[in-house]
Amino acid sequence: MFSKLFLRICILKRKQHISYIDKQYFHVNIKESMLNLPVSRLKQFFKQQCLNVVEGYTCIIADCPICDNKMKESKLYINKTTGFFMCNKCKSMGSWDILEKFLSTQKSSERYKELNVLKDTCHLKENFVQIWKGVIKNSQSIVDMSLEEYEILLNNFSLPYVTQEDMSHLNCFYEKSANVLYFPLVGLNNSIVGYKSLTTHLKEEQTFPTFGVSGCIKYKQSHSKSDNVAVVVGTIEDLLALISKKSTHTIICLPYNLRNLPQQLLPYMESFKKLILWFGNDETSWYTVKQFAKKFNERRCYFVRPTDLQPRPTLAAKMNYDLKAILRNAQPVWHESIITFQELKEEILSDLLNIDKVQGVKWKRYPVLNQILKGHRRGEFTVLTGPTGCGKTTFMSEYSLDLAMQGVNTLWGSFEIRNVRLAKTMLQQMVGVPLDENLENFDLYATAFEKLPIYFMTFHGQQTIKVVMDVIEHATYVHDIAHVIIDNVQFMMGTTDSSKHVDRYYKIVVARNNFTSFETVLLCFRFWKQDDIVAKFRNFATKYNCHVSMIIHPRKERSDEELTTSSIFGSAKASQEADNVLIIQDKSLSSLRGKKYLQVAKNRYSGDLGVMLLEFDKSKLSYTSRLKGKQKSGEKDKSSSKKQRAEQTDEKTV
Ligand SMILES: [Zn+2]
Repeated sequence: MFSKLFLRICILKRKQHISYIDKQYFHVNIKESMLNLPVSRLKQFFKQQCLNVVEGYTCIIADCPICDNKMKESKLYINKTTGFFMCNKCKSMGSWDILEKFLSTQKSSERYKELNVLKDTCHLKENFVQIWKGVIKNSQSIVDMSLEEYEILLNNFSLPYVTQEDMSHLNCFYEKSANVLYFPLVGLNNSIVGYKSLTTHLKEEQTFPTFGVSGCIKYKQSHSKSDNVAVVVGTIEDLLALISKKSTHTIICLPYNLRNLPQQLLPYMESFKKLILWFGNDETSWYTVKQFAKKFNERRCYFVRPTDLQPRPTLAAKMNYDLKAILRNAQPVWHESIITFQELKEEILSDLLNIDKVQGVKWKRYPVLNQILKGHRRGEFTVLTGPTGCGKTTFMSEYSLDLAMQGVNTLWGSFEIRNVRLAKTMLQQMVGVPLDENLENFDLYATAFEKLPIYFMTFHGQQTIKVVMDVIEHATYVHDIAHVIIDNVQFMMGTTDSSKHVDRYYKIVVARNNFTSFETVLLCFRFWKQDDIVAKFRNFATKYNCHVSMIIHPRKERSDEELTTSSIFGSAKASQEADNVLIIQDKSLSSLRGKKYLQVAKNRYSGDLGVMLLEFDKSKLSYTSRLKGKQKSGEKDKSSSKKQRAEQTDEKTV
């Protein structure tokens, strides 16, 4: 009886397992690609329909062809990079291919029917005003509090001292029973599109909805004139610190801190002529400033240089630094082609002062790798190879998970194994226990995993490299991806689309040289095709300042020989283009006592080479060697330590 019940629970959990991995937001949609249209062409589409159109910083702004309005009061924002559109009046949003249909000149009755259906599909489904009303149902407005209550509240949350009047401008609410503060996020037409919440027990702010929100928290000093300048910060704490010191007129608090800048927010930000980005002086802030400035349009962006004397607003306020002076000192992100030495000097100096940040994100699980590679840096290209069955995918999975757990936004292109299996491996690596034996904690694990910034590409059937690159570029823009993994390049080359090319190629070669065998030509063709893919990813890494890790099978597969950089399949192109070459050497395949290790065979950044021992723990699917003492205590009291570990991972990822 009990066992039957247990079995049923297991099956139920397993189903949950699959369904949660299939959740939409994990995936990168193949239909969403870059716009690949010049702005002038984009404008033409609207002009053909006699619609007004102007070019903004990140979007073009036009009369909405979806609205039925004759008054032309609507504003339609079309992202210049992706073509994603949003209307402030009819609240439609969607991808360019939908909008293109509305702009098409041929009008027939069938066409109208189709457009009417489309109109419904791109209309915003959720009513955030209703949701917001529900959220604050049991809460009290800050305005209605007594001064005493208000001061207790600030103390309780250890927030910077902001007057009750200033705080009430943010229109926030306090729910006493749950001890939560709610801040509405405002978007176009000052409508509420979501909210941020702050609790005393969780350090991080929570945001609803969890992705793609079109608003932010905006503070505007009362009676201040509008100068179209805004200071942009990531957290409510930083926002309040700036308000408390009365350091500026207008402040924007981003919805997802530095994790992601949704393209849906860009229309709202169009009205600002100057944005001063003030993040922290830590590693993530260091990288994010440049990333976000690119998305906001660098030409209007300034940033507070991350130095010890210019930490994030909260710390600067605590140290009693002059916040106004720091803001006056903000530097333009955009440099004209001629850079003065003064600017270069500052850049060099700040690089030297922040050497550990320039070196990149450090792995938590591989201290040896940190010593050799120094860290994981944006804009680089890494090649991983190793004999068949040595665990390249398993290793890359943990290697990327480690970085993702530290906030590196990651996109997986897994052509070798299915996404569900990959996500399951990562989940197990994250929690460090076999999932099947710990189904009772599955929800806890899954919730923690969902919070990691990992996305999976889904491809159905063969795709050309152009389509794949388009999807990756789009995802990198939308989700602010910092690390792309391709597993593996050979699978990506496919077989079906190449065969007809090979035939053609073969005919050309044979016409010139009768002695070449078909096999040789096929190999040549594959080399040539792989080189093309490698070159495309190399350019992508540089252009988008994104790290690309690519798995490539080796050329020779004899287990008694060590692999070298020249054993990588294909021409020498891959190892030449790579900044880092990692090789898994697997002696356990040839001898019983042989060990497995990771060899750093190329390192362009520091030149250091070396090896790291890989000890595989099957229960954790992990190559991390943990302290022996810890493992022993874990065995003694299995259940409690498991729970602890789950909580630890939970904490790390929240
Ligand atoms: Zn509209």
